[in-house]
Amino acid sequence: MSFNQLGLSEALLKAITKKGYSTPSPIQEKAIPVILDRKDILASAQTGTGKTAGFTLPILELLSERPATKRRVIRSLILTPTRELAAQIKQNVDEYSHFVDIKSTVIFGGVNANPQIKTLRSGVDILIATPGRLLDLHGQRVLSLSEVEILVLDEADRMLDMGFLRDIRRILDLLPTKRQNLLFSATFSKEIKHLANSFLDRPVLVEATPENTTVEKIDQRVYRVDQSKKTSLITKLISEGEWSQVLIFTRTKHGANRLCQKLEKAGINSAAIHGNKTQGARTKALSGFKNGSVSVLVATDIAARGLDIPLLPHVVNFELPNIPEDYIHRIGRTGRAGASGEAISLVSFDEMTYLKDIEKLTKQNIPSSTIEGYAPDPANEVAAALAQKKTGKKPPNGRRNFSSKRRY
Ligand code: AMP
Repeated sequence: MSFNQLGLSEALLKAITKKGYSTPSPIQEKAIPVILDRKDILASAQTGTGKTAGFTLPILELLSERPATKRRVIRSLILTPTRELAAQIKQNVDEYSHFVDIKSTVIFGGVNANPQIKTLRSGVDILIATPGRLLDLHGQRVLSLSEVEILVLDEADRMLDMGFLRDIRRILDLLPTKRQNLLFSATFSKEIKHLANSFLDRPVLVEATPENTTVEKIDQRVYRVDQSKKTSLITKLISEGEWSQVLIFTRTKHGANRLCQKLEKAGINSAAIHGNKTQGARTKALSGFKNGSVSVLVATDIAARGLDIPLLPHVVNFELPNIPEDYIHRIGRTGRAGASGEAISLVSFDEMTYLKDIEKLTKQNIPSSTIEGYAPDPANEVAAALAQKKTGKKPPNGRRNFSSKRRY
């Protein structure tokens, strides 16, 4: 299948060629004709599948078929959970709309709203937004959503996970009832299905698994180590392996900061990326990582979600995620686009339950070993077992709790 069989105009095909794509990805092949047909879709797709172009291209096609009349109004709203993802989508929209008369802008919190307000007032066809800033500016009557024809809810599972359900419902109430809805989610929990049922109109199901991100294709390893020795072990692995680009996941924002500082002290250029960082700091960290001036990016799950960092050779779980699905998202960042990748997890005794949950979900046994000088002290195993026995419960076993607001 080639792009020119999908029903896209010459102007968009030209932009695709300029971008260097030769064939559509599976999600693009499936989603583009359905969206052009003005149908709602419920798409199961993660980052790395080409989903952004999968919805952006047909939206540009539909909007440019009926150009704006006198004044531009927001005809398509793309909602995303994070600022980084919003900025990335905007970049994609810019690239694909090079040869069509469509204007877009992006709004998110954490930065001065005035430039955003100015652009909105000048009129745009497509608005990419995170929920908080959107509601804020709508409340200030800076923008109107009454002419929206196409709504995209990107990474819907993360939006719920980040506690945006109420905001989403409020935003849905601001839109015209007659519109096209496109929902993208990497996972389909009961809550996502419930949300989908509440506003999608006979959606076409579109599924795509990311290329090269299936767990079997990634070289995974577990190193057993005590929590207290993890920092020195990771420093050794990075230095001795001469790793030049590594993404490290921690469970908490403080953990990310702490590790980043220690790596910097050891002479490894590092940056942390998480929800407490200012937008400027996050953008700087990400561009430094992409251009090679930063070798290590330490991130929490939500901050890393949706980041377009191609071809990562190394992904490290400094701590295992307590949600087993997050393990798949994390390691899916390595070995993309045919390159081989390595995913290493540093696992202490108190994380063994998480490891078992991950192995159960991914239906595999991850090879586990120790590194000389870093083998865990067996006394800690006894202590971990005792602590577990004393509290009478195992660590949270990774079921998502949608009622709690997770902030990373
Ligand atoms: P996404 O899943 O939208 O974040 O896209 C993942 C990566 O794949 C991005 O770097 C895109 O630029 C790239 N990409 C999207 N569509 C194609 C395509 N048809 N051919 C090659 N690369 C693509």
